Amino acid sequence: MNLRLTLTLGCVFLLLNTLFAQTKYDYNDGPYIEVRGDSIQVSWIENGALNRSVTPFALPYQFESEVLPAVTINDFTPQANPFERHVDVKKFVALSDIHGQHHIFIQLLKKHHVIDENEAWIYGDGHLVIVGDVMDRGPQVTESLWFLYKLEKEADAAGGMVHTLLGNHELMVMHGDVGYINPKYRYTSGITGRPYPDFFSDQTVLGQWLRSKNITTVINEFGFVHGGFSEKVIKKENSLSTINDMFKTQILPRGKVAQDTTSLLSMLYFDNGPLWYRGYANPEGFDEITADSILSALDIESIVVGHTSMPKIVSVHDDKILLVDSSIKFGKTGELLVYDNDSLYRGLIDGNLVSIDIDSTTADENRPSTPFQYIYDFGDMDLTIVLDTDLKKLFITNSMEEIYQPATLVAIHNKEFNRKWNVRLRTRGNMRKQVSKFPPLKIDFSKTTLDYLGFTRNDKLKLVLPGRTGKKYQQRLYQEHVIYSLYQQVDSFGYRTHLVNVIFENKGKKKYDLNGFFIEDEADFALRTKTRILNSGIIRVESLERESYVKMSFFQYMILNTDYSVGNKHNLEMIGIPGELSPRAIAYDFDYCGMVNHDYAVPFERLPIYSVREHYFKGQKVTLEEVKMAVEFFNPLKDTFKKIIDDDNYLNRKSKKSMKKDIDEFYKRLNEEDKWEKRFINPKKMLMKPR
Ligand code: ZN
Repeated sequence: MNLRLTLTLGCVFLLLNTLFAQTKYDYNDGPYIEVRGDSIQVSWIENGALNRSVTPFALPYQFESEVLPAVTINDFTPQANPFERHVDVKKFVALSDIHGQHHIFIQLLKKHHVIDENEAWIYGDGHLVIVGDVMDRGPQVTESLWFLYKLEKEADAAGGMVHTLLGNHELMVMHGDVGYINPKYRYTSGITGRPYPDFFSDQTVLGQWLRSKNITTVINEFGFVHGGFSEKVIKKENSLSTINDMFKTQILPRGKVAQDTTSLLSMLYFDNGPLWYRGYANPEGFDEITADSILSALDIESIVVGHTSMPKIVSVHDDKILLVDSSIKFGKTGELLVYDNDSLYRGLIDGNLVSIDIDSTTADENRPSTPFQYIYDFGDMDLTIVLDTDLKKLFITNSMEEIYQPATLVAIHNKEFNRKWNVRLRTRGNMRKQVSKFPPLKIDFSKTTLDYLGFTRNDKLKLVLPGRTGKKYQQRLYQEHVIYSLYQQVDSFGYRTHLVNVIFENKGKKKYDLNGFFIEDEADFALRTKTRILNSGIIRVESLERESYVKMSFFQYMILNTDYSVGNKHNLEMIGIPGELSPRAIAYDFDYCGMVNHDYAVPFERLPIYSVREHYFKGQKVTLEEVKMAVEFFNPLKDTFKKIIDDDNYLNRKSKKSMKKDIDEFYKRLNEEDKWEKRFINPKKMLMKPR
């Protein structure tokens, strides 16, 4: 069989496999309830199978299923729901950007006694405000919508109220944009033969319900809106009632609005519009005077917005702006804004309340407190950063002196603009700079920016880039990235990394587009591992914790790396662990290893090898017992190493193959007992003089 035929058959097999997998895809979704003429048509999916029912139109209509939300419909056309200012409200909770993470939403409401164990309203005359973006991204959008549909009736009966305000993602789906829907809903769309937006058309119960919703509301002195009201919009129109009506009657029903910088309708629809605006979440672009003028024009004292993900709920300018998108979308944790007894709190996922003004670092250990921890929650490569700076200066003039220079950093998450920061940049790492066009970079955020965003520690990020542009260098960077994952199998203290797309610009002109990775810097590392970095003083091999040192030495042998040294602390982080007497050496910076095999990588001249592809064991004073320990430790890891390489999404076949070949060679050598003495216990010594 020739290669091409094999490949073609492989593809066909893969395709069949996918189709087969789809029919077996076990999930539940719905119900989607539609009114057509005189009948109620319902579709829902149970255990991956489509169900439909058609009944004559009669209300109330009830839907029940063991695995889906129960639904009772008392009227198909919801009542008009005009903009209102609610006064004398004693308590409210608010959150935003649930994005299909229904379980976190429910947990927050339960822990803060808004609903009981059966998800029924127990918040009395309190108000719950959803500040937009229930839809898109996550897998449990339908559950949240039906839950809110039900809850608002219960709240109403108890004298309370649920406000479901629309976000840009609700509007996008209703306007036919399916760019952000969860893969699950593509499948629902496929098996029902309907485009996803059809499930929210004005023929549907949920579609009618969503169309009755507002984009803004006011409770006591607090205004709520998904994005924010920009100065530009407010200058043109400051009646919230008018803006709300324009959205409902002119923007919601139609697909597009003509772009025209002078018309209010166009301003409301495009980037400055209330569902898209991110000005409030931008620490550099938004001062207190602007906030004051907007608030007074709207006749409120405080404004609550979502839309821009924060590591926690953030209060800005003395509670004048409250940013409540607490990154629920990552599916890990989240927060509620709690107003009770004239005070504001961050309601944590465990039910605790923290005063909004206290910047607590101890109250919630789950919260990322540094930029790296925050980035680490994004999926690999979901994040693009655009760095705009004088590139010539960065890579040439300033490179040797490691001087910081100003730059702007724009973060784009899943192709959606996230935010813009002023930062400082410099290159780092001497060895690489001389030989590579893109040396590693250090990004420094200002302390005030980080305070504003709720980060409490460490203002620096370390970014590793491929040496040069081109596929070959990109692959080598991915290899280095995977080596960090391999090392974590050997030492759980190994550095964490995160792939990211990086675009370099000079005054707005795009120059390079490449993929790099962020690596934890010392401060992040120490914070996560609760260890101390030992920067000063001399550490000798003899004083190191022996077992981790031996494992590290064998790992370096596996990846063909000799570019490290205990004495110089070169590419080894020396750490002190509380309760342990001996320090440990943690390996990093693997770009000189033979497994990556860069053109510029050559072994140190006093080593008895000529190429980084040659094996040389650098472990010192390793005993026979220690070799045995290493063999016992490494042998069971072989399949794991290979699986990590195979499962990587970015390495191509060639790169994977060469890495796995090195792994095989390592295991062959590791298990040649007769060569242990010469190879590991008494290897050739370093040369006294350079060759
Ligand atoms: Zn949004």
